[in-house]
Amino acid sequence: MRGCSPHRCQARTAAEPASVALLDSADRDDHAAGRNGTGDPWEGKQPVNQDAHHKVKPTHLKRSAYLYIRQSTIRQVFENTESTQRQYGLRQQAVALGWPQDRIVVIDSDLGQSGAATDREGFQKLVTEVSMNRAGIVLGLEVSRLARNSMDWHRLLEICALTDTLILDEDGIYDPAHFNDRLLLGLKGTMSEAELHVLRARLQGGILNKARRGELFVRPPIGFVYQADGKLIIDPDQQIQQSLQMVFDTFQRTGSALATVRAFREQGLRFPRRILCGSKKGDLLWGSLEHSHVLRILHNPRYAGVFIFGRTRTRKTIEGESIIEPLPREQWHTFLPGAHPGYISWEQHENNLKQLRENRQARGHDRRKSPPREGPALLQGLIICGHCGRRMTLRYHSRRGQLCPEYVCQRKGIENAEPICLRVPGQEVDQAVSDLLLKLVNPLTLEVALAVQEELQSRLEEADCLRKQQVERARYEAELAQRRYLRVDPENRLVADSLEADWNAKLRALAEAQQDYEHRREQDRKVFSEEQRQAILALATDFPRLWSDPHTPDRERKRMVRLLIEDVTLLRGKQIQLRLRFRGGADQTLTLTNPLRAWELRMTNSEVVAEIDQLLNAHTYGEIAAILNERGLRSGTGQSFTARFIARIQLHYGLKPRYDRLRDKGLLTLEEMAQALKVHPKTVKTWATYGMLRRHPYTDKPECLYERPRQDAPRKAQGLKLSDRAPLLPEGFMEVQCEA
Ligand SMILES: [Zn+2]
Repeated sequence: MRGCSPHRCQARTAAEPASVALLDSADRDDHAAGRNGTGDPWEGKQPVNQDAHHKVKPTHLKRSAYLYIRQSTIRQVFENTESTQRQYGLRQQAVALGWPQDRIVVIDSDLGQSGAATDREGFQKLVTEVSMNRAGIVLGLEVSRLARNSMDWHRLLEICALTDTLILDEDGIYDPAHFNDRLLLGLKGTMSEAELHVLRARLQGGILNKARRGELFVRPPIGFVYQADGKLIIDPDQQIQQSLQMVFDTFQRTGSALATVRAFREQGLRFPRRILCGSKKGDLLWGSLEHSHVLRILHNPRYAGVFIFGRTRTRKTIEGESIIEPLPREQWHTFLPGAHPGYISWEQHENNLKQLRENRQARGHDRRKSPPREGPALLQGLIICGHCGRRMTLRYHSRRGQLCPEYVCQRKGIENAEPICLRVPGQEVDQAVSDLLLKLVNPLTLEVALAVQEELQSRLEEADCLRKQQVERARYEAELAQRRYLRVDPENRLVADSLEADWNAKLRALAEAQQDYEHRREQDRKVFSEEQRQAILALATDFPRLWSDPHTPDRERKRMVRLLIEDVTLLRGKQIQLRLRFRGGADQTLTLTNPLRAWELRMTNSEVVAEIDQLLNAHTYGEIAAILNERGLRSGTGQSFTARFIARIQLHYGLKPRYDRLRDKGLLTLEEMAQALKVHPKTVKTWATYGMLRRHPYTDKPECLYERPRQDAPRKAQGLKLSDRAPLLPEGFMEVQCEA
């Protein structure tokens, strides 16, 4: 017997050649065979198996053998089949050691996962099986790679030692319960981790060096391609070139990314994209140009012929998530102007960026809840679109020297140059909110609020008191544990240790209780701080006066709103709906009728139009205007009526013209009348003037239509004075007919 350490160095003595070379790796077999002088590879392995066999005990054989198989990447799984085969070959070793075929469990669910990955299901399963004492032996090619993370590896060793589980790899069989074996396995784990580190460092160093020279292959943005010799050139595709040139030109002309998107949209132009993955990788796709595309292009220095690398930094959070942070230009890893041809000059690139910065109304990502600004819009920064849930922005229009706010939801409109999502006139909304606040904030409601506030405060204090007692209790227990520990004889290590542990635990509990207490207290304070309370109190008493005071600046009025209102959601359908969320959780819904549009405001009252329609039966435009003015009626814009205005209304509202009305009643024109009477039109006119014929004016000139001649119609009677003739028709004849 050789003791229990199966080190390779020790094993490889002349007496026991290749003692641990369990695997059928070719060179070792040759080696062994050469030394033994026979060609039989198994002959040389005999002692090995013996060595192995005395580590493998019946207790091990009763349990299963676990074969863990892993390849880092899917590519390795496909290409490095040799290694996979070798790993499966270990199964034979387990059989040779005495495990039956059906008791060998293969864990290969981690195939294609990197060792650096944290969540490997197969490895977790292996650890579980080992810790449940179901494994007699764990087999793996280079087992130390089981876990690339040293901590995992040591934990596995620890568990193997506790559960008396053997480990077998290409080099030998180990019993982690034995010190020498564990040391060796531990070293292997450490080396493996170091190897990973060196490998990564070398790779990364290579990448950075290449980047410094500007030779690193970085996926080029659209419009650039790599030549066969590795040089980056402008894409020879003329259509791509022109599309990009069009983007830069349009931006330079309009100075706005949105206008660029709109120009593309209006002209029905498409913009190229390259497919980055999948079977069609590298193919071109022509789609619509989006706002984000334009921004990305304008921000990318490569279009100015600059090679850049390391514009961002990746940071890991404690939860294991990666965060990508952009870096300022001074901290970029590589910045090589003139590294390759570009579409624009560096100056133009800089100018574009400057233009974009100037276009931005609010800097930074947070255009959300914005601070109160100078404008009169009351709800600025508090309004949310009820259709899409985005924050709404504000526009001002100047109307008769006054600023009129309008709330708009234009985010999507900007992204895709689409119509605006929601647009609500601000004046009416502001007025409604203002009225509501004046109604809500009065001394009566203030008293109720105060009562509730006091109630809340007292309840919070009770809870606070209770929590304080918990802290006191924890402190007492910690002190007790401390006293107990101090009293014990230091020689009595066992007792001292356990008491010290107890004391530590109590101290931790105290710290936790204290922290929890502080935290809760802070939260309670957040419900209503003293300052806020005072502010609300002061506001409530003073509110109506301050609010209505024209000298109160808009900014202050907005501050007041913010003290009371959390946010307002706007919806506009047939009506405008406002949902106000007050601080403290209450909410209220207001419904407003849609305000009239500008042209609707200017429209003439519909009753007046109906009146005009009536009057057209008997009067000309001029007469109607006079009648309406006499009654004191006014047009939609507040002006008095004129003949021309009445004519416009008649035309606009499609009222029947007076001429048509008269013709419908069978009235004749001058020519028709002359023909009917068989006289000259002039005669007709003369007769009408002397009242021998009835005529009705249809213009203010006047032009007239004539009633059909009846039995008593005048005839030519030369010699008679006109004034002596005149057999008049009864008055009011036409009017009666009109009313019928
Ligand atoms: Zn919206």
